Amino acid sequence: MENVLYMNDSYLKEFEAVIESVKDDKFVVLDKTAFYPTGGGQPHDTGVFTCNGIDYPVVYVGKFSGQISHEVSKPGLKIGDKVAGRIDWDRRYKFMRMHTAAHLLISIFNRESNVLITGNQIDEDKTRIDFNMENFDRDKIMSYIGTANKLIKEDLPVKVSYMPREEAMKLPGIVKLASALPPNVETLRIVEIPGVDLQADGGTHVKSLSEIGAIELVKAENKGKDNRRVYYTVK
Ligand SMILES: [Zn+2]
Repeated sequence: MENVLYMNDSYLKEFEAVIESVKDDKFVVLDKTAFYPTGGGQPHDTGVFTCNGIDYPVVYVGKFSGQISHEVSKPGLKIGDKVAGRIDWDRRYKFMRMHTAAHLLISIFNRESNVLITGNQIDEDKTRIDFNMENFDRDKIMSYIGTANKLIKEDLPVKVSYMPREEAMKLPGIVKLASALPPNVETLRIVEIPGVDLQADGGTHVKSLSEIGAIELVKAENKGKDNRRVYYTVK
């Protein structure tokens, strides 16, 4: 995990790395990276590699066969090249705030209504959460957002730690999430908002809840049967 720089430091904006492979003149794998690949409901980072004074925009980042691959929009990079990487911080920081807000809302929805979360998609303007609440209850949804905003005002920390898989699986509430992880992961990364949420999680988060700002409901939709959907943003 030491090659995946955002896991240990979500605030790292610039780094230096060496190119390990280039495919089709545009898919670049580095020996280490701070670029987050699309996954876990969070879109990839964008940014730029600079090599010998030339900028190579990074337009897509994905994880394939366990490797983080960066797509650049300009050809010319070669194996062994040293690059300076810089991520588009405004975009990433918005995702970190949106993602941490999702932790809060999902844990509150789950605790207060015992609902299952069936989907979560973060975006720059708004983030979507799908869940299976029995009755569509707008007042309840509003009150959960209010609870989340109270927790943000308390400015609780968001703690990251690592734990052997076997030990982590014994923690209450973590099993359903950990079971979604690939079976070959021996060490789990644990993200904790003390007293609120605990998850096995490889994403990027803010360090303390006040950084989220305030969560605002954009829209709540009744998608029929048990299917509910909320969109929120952070201000
Ligand atoms: Zn997370």
